Amino acid sequence: MKFKLKITQTIAKMLECFKLNQIQPRRRYYELAVNAPISKTFTYHYESEQALTPGLMVKAPFGSRKVNAVILKEVPSLDIDFTTKSIDVDIEAPVTLSLPILQWGKWLSEYYVYPLGQVLNHFFPTVKRKERPPLVKPSFTETPLNLTDEQQTVFTSIYQQINSFNVHLVHGITGSGKTEIYLQLIDKVIKEGKQALVLVPEISLTPQLEDRFKRRFGEAQVAVVHSQITPRKKTDAWYDISEHNKSILIGARSALFSNFKNLGIIIVDEEHDSSFKQDEKLKYNGKDAAIMLAKLLNLPIVLGSATPSLESWNQALEKKFQLHTLKDRVFKQAMPKVEILDLRQSEAYPGQEFWYTKALHEKITKHLNNDHQVALFLNRRGLAQTIQCLDCGKKLDCPNCDISLTLHHKHDLLCHYCGYHEKKPLRCPHCQSEKLLDLGLGTEKVQNVLQELFPEKKIVRADRDSIENRADMEDFIKTAEAHEAHILIGTQMIAKGLDFPKLAFVGVILADVGLNIPDFRASERVFQLITQVSGRAGRRKELDGEVLVQSFSPEHSVFKWAQESSFEGFSQEELTERNLFLYPPFSRLSCLRVQTAEKETGLLACQWVSHKIEALKQKYPEYTALEILGPTPAPIQKIKNQYRHLFLLKSSKPMLAQKLFAQLTHTSDGLPAKTKLSLDVDPLNML
Ligand code: ADP
Ligand code: ZN
Ligand code: ZN
Repeated sequence: MKFKLKITQTIAKMLECFKLNQIQPRRRYYELAVNAPISKTFTYHYESEQALTPGLMVKAPFGSRKVNAVILKEVPSLDIDFTTKSIDVDIEAPVTLSLPILQWGKWLSEYYVYPLGQVLNHFFPTVKRKERPPLVKPSFTETPLNLTDEQQTVFTSIYQQINSFNVHLVHGITGSGKTEIYLQLIDKVIKEGKQALVLVPEISLTPQLEDRFKRRFGEAQVAVVHSQITPRKKTDAWYDISEHNKSILIGARSALFSNFKNLGIIIVDEEHDSSFKQDEKLKYNGKDAAIMLAKLLNLPIVLGSATPSLESWNQALEKKFQLHTLKDRVFKQAMPKVEILDLRQSEAYPGQEFWYTKALHEKITKHLNNDHQVALFLNRRGLAQTIQCLDCGKKLDCPNCDISLTLHHKHDLLCHYCGYHEKKPLRCPHCQSEKLLDLGLGTEKVQNVLQELFPEKKIVRADRDSIENRADMEDFIKTAEAHEAHILIGTQMIAKGLDFPKLAFVGVILADVGLNIPDFRASERVFQLITQVSGRAGRRKELDGEVLVQSFSPEHSVFKWAQESSFEGFSQEELTERNLFLYPPFSRLSCLRVQTAEKETGLLACQWVSHKIEALKQKYPEYTALEILGPTPAPIQKIKNQYRHLFLLKSSKPMLAQKLFAQLTHTSDGLPAKTKLSLDVDPLNML
């Protein structure tokens, strides 16, 4: 009764106010970033008494659709002499991105040359919000471990600066207890009522890691996002973070696009990992973006790795990042013994191909006999890498890409770049010969060979053919953890973060696979890979780990450093070389891609770009600080029926390539139709 009366009174009052013209809503105008492939912003209006705040997430009519948009600022109505459309605002539950987060979006847009509206669109949950029962607050939690002296030193020096922006680089060998330090820092931060973001490469976002966080902080505190999660769960996680129902978010790079209510720390684990970089659309590097976010929010960011990227390492050498080192494994277990085998001088096991050497067989047998687990690593999947015709010498190539088809499952041919597949033909399509030879090897073949040699052993494989989703990965991990599987075979999927108690021996079947890639980071990647896979062996006190690396070029210095587990040695040598050729971290690179449907237009488009760059260089002297290499055909010239050429832009100054690119693409008179020009800033993949 009372309640009803109150409402009636309120309504009466409101009407009175309207009469007095006191809270008459008025039309206000706003500048918006809308989700459309256009780099400019647009003006809309909304009728309200109170002004809407910058950062508010709304819907705006655009063309025939309504798209996600974000308010940037109010604009004076005096400036408006054109008709505007009205936006939709969720009055019930408005969501606003904070100013630093909005600023971060602007930085992403400018630095990675991508429309602001499309950048900000990453923040929008994919499905509508749904009411859920309130979360049960954490009741159980595991107690933190007593830190070792080394861990304590690192923890303390980071914790002393917990309230300000600093980039901390934790260089700690595999198993040295880095994750335990993250857990304890996060514990402190959330006890102060703040949130934590933990970024990991998609591949290492395993149930093992997730469980560790949930055991420590309770299920109800931890939100997880990865590519396998449903849009509903992703949306729930987004709101849990946005409303601070949960304090910890673990995720791959896209977790950055969360509306943190009160972020207190960012952790980037395996910071060297190239999967933090997105290669298409918004070509951002999640690690660099995380550093910028930490800077704008004035909070600490911790980068951790056993093999830091040379970019981060150099920042630490220049004292821009604070370096923290963990030299020992937690239980002082020795690092595994690494042996390098020269494939040119080693004998194959009777009846086997070159890669299944006697030495490899001996190691495998020895460890299996001791009831240890064995892992074999090869960064190439499938049965055979190419099918070659013995009569005409041609290979079976993908019709859409400039790459050979790989053989899988006895007779399926597959393109790893576009997904094209066909059955293996009985005759060569070029000359009708029946002499088709399977060349090269992949993980599937390794598994078949091993299964024949060790029929009574259980062998499991982890690569993109055998592991299609998270459930598959969980099965793999469970089987391996419980030592139900005796032999594990995998690509880089098994290189990271996994912890199998009985694993004592790791064999790297053919280390040359990574070295032969035309990329100045090839040795760095191989060093990281060998170190990471070695880190899987002998993680328990009672177990001595062993690693055998097979290569046709064992004299390459990367093997020496990997054998000595000397990151310092490796990085010093590699940095000297990078300095000599002015490669990152001693310059900034951008890759300008020219994509066309025909080869000939590709060349014309490249000429157009070259001429225009020349003209811009003449006009603006600042571009002389930009060294331009190319055009050259991309190492893989055709992918998905697009011909690809590239220019490399090298400079010592930030934002110069971006500026040039903007001017270059401002008008496109004379550029062959359907040419796509794109810029990849700080590229990690130049194939
Ligand atoms: P990293 O992240 O450097 O690979 P982890 O933090 O995963 O290392 O630690 C390796 C192993 O040692 C894990 O099983 C972890 O539970 C254990 N561990 C870490 N720190 C301690 C500690 N202070 N006391 C006991 N065990 C620890
Ligand atoms: Zn042929
Ligand atoms: Zn293809």
